[in-house]
Amino acid sequence: MQQDVLDALSKQPDWTPISREVVEGIRTQLHNGLADIAEKLDPQRALWVSKHKLTTVHGCEAHHMAGLTDFAWTVNNVKGTVLHKAVELGLNWQGAVIPADIVDIALNQLADDDMASAGPFIEQLSPSERAQLRSSAIDLYTKFDESFPPLKASWRPVLESSARYEMFGQRINLSTRADLTLGAPGSKVIVDLKSGRIQASHREELRFYALVEAMRTGQAPRRLATYSLVTARAEVEDVTEGVLQAAVRKTIDGIHLLFELQRDRREPTTRPGTSCLWCPLATSCTTGIKYLAQRDDPDAVLDY
Ligand code: SF4
Repeated sequence: MQQDVLDALSKQPDWTPISREVVEGIRTQLHNGLADIAEKLDPQRALWVSKHKLTTVHGCEAHHMAGLTDFAWTVNNVKGTVLHKAVELGLNWQGAVIPADIVDIALNQLADDDMASAGPFIEQLSPSERAQLRSSAIDLYTKFDESFPPLKASWRPVLESSARYEMFGQRINLSTRADLTLGAPGSKVIVDLKSGRIQASHREELRFYALVEAMRTGQAPRRLATYSLVTARAEVEDVTEGVLQAAVRKTIDGIHLLFELQRDRREPTTRPGTSCLWCPLATSCTTGIKYLAQRDDPDAVLDY
């Protein structure tokens, strides 16, 4: 497993970086594509754009809007946060790393941190819920520890790396938080760790990260990798001009949708899919209810 990861992330002998001209062309495209929105915005009420917002708005708009106000931590969705904290601690740990110990420290640090949004949720868990969360996090951390090769300092590993690209005097801000980056600007590899299976939207999310990195530093990253801990597989993509083109178009389209929904108050549309499974509207949305019923019983004939 560790060799697979090394093979997936290593630099190919024929790799050449994307030229500065291409990156600047993408920047012009991005700014031109958003100029109409920027002139309607105020820096005091700026538009903040994240991979999560872009993914949800390109999925089901009603789910996206509900998620802006109805998000709630659960034992299931907080385990990724605990994993990321544990990986961050484990990478910088002096001495032998014992998964259960690292996870306990991660849980305690998060619970004590009122500034981390997951902190108060972890703090109020019952003993049995906390034990369940601990068990899941140890499982995930152990998988990471087994499958990832030790990260050498010379690879410049950075965990939970935040990046931002501010546009139009901070009227539009693109922000990212990469699970793991390796390498220097211009040949960086951006890695997203997933506790479950890899989905099609994960590739789009990393392309957005590549776009922000290219705009922020003027140099595109080298490669993108989504790593599934449960399957011990990485899906990798080299960053090419085509990848940046796809990212900039998807980002411009997504920001237009965000603006229409959040600022122009356009009525959101529904688009059923996997996201119905964890949608806060799943018990009240007719479209989602029908979709989930058909998913459970493919022979059922339903129209929606
Ligand atoms: S239940 Fe499904 S279709 Fe309905 S709002 Fe949620 S994600 Fe959209």
